[in-house]
Amino acid sequence: MYLKPAQRMPQKVAIAIGAHPDDIEFYMAGTLLMLKKAGYETHYLNLATGNCGSAEYNGPTTRSIRNTEARAAAKALGAVFHSAIADDLEILYNLELLRALAAVVRDVKPNVLLTHSPQDYMEDHTNTCRLAVTAAFARGMGNFKTVPARPAGDYEVTVYHAMPHSLRDGLRRRILPGAFVNTALVHKIKREALAAHKSQRAWLDVSQGLNSYLLAMEDLSLEVGRISKRFKHAEGWRRHLHCGFCKTETDTLRQALRRNYLVNKAYERDLETPAG
Ligand SMILES: [Zn+2]
Repeated sequence: MYLKPAQRMPQKVAIAIGAHPDDIEFYMAGTLLMLKKAGYETHYLNLATGNCGSAEYNGPTTRSIRNTEARAAAKALGAVFHSAIADDLEILYNLELLRALAAVVRDVKPNVLLTHSPQDYMEDHTNTCRLAVTAAFARGMGNFKTVPARPAGDYEVTVYHAMPHSLRDGLRRRILPGAFVNTALVHKIKREALAAHKSQRAWLDVSQGLNSYLLAMEDLSLEVGRISKRFKHAEGWRRHLHCGFCKTETDTLRQALRRNYLVNKAYERDLETPAG
């Protein structure tokens, strides 16, 4: 269905789409908060329930605990919460999840979509990225059916990829941010939102040797800030190619966040180097 211009959706809507409860808080929440300060309506979606993230409770109990925690985190961020659509390690690039996620995107009608890096340490993250990109791509294609059924819309969306875990791809290579968002102003709220995932403190100790997930987030944020050479706390982003999403070179974060957004000139120079 084609929407007449008068029916087109608000210009200031952002959604963060992460794989597991707490991923948004590690990699994206500061930017989501800065967009909220800039007048954006913000949305929060973890594709997976987090049901595998416990050594103490069974899957259904963990799913329930983490749903409550994720709702509290979204509330701390002032974002609209959307329910998970898969379980952990079951985020596959398949039609069922694509139809479900595309329905959420059509409901939300974001003009900024934040999601994982296309290269990351585990497949739930990379598959979330692929699903989010295609769900955004399909927003205006009426012949693609979503479940539940939602009409297609005519609007632009700019897609941004967060930094991968450890700032490296799955083959250990460094990933450079294409741009930085100053998150120092909202760091305290970002930390509160992460702290809402109380069950993860013990789990990340056991599973990944993180003394404290709060400290791990802090270290990441400071490290990206150091790379920026400007901000104390920062999140890094790489902007998806515009084709099929928005006008050439539309950089919505830059327009929205102004002096709290810094393009990484070294990354931009690399873009001009012919491949091969
Ligand atoms: Zn994750």
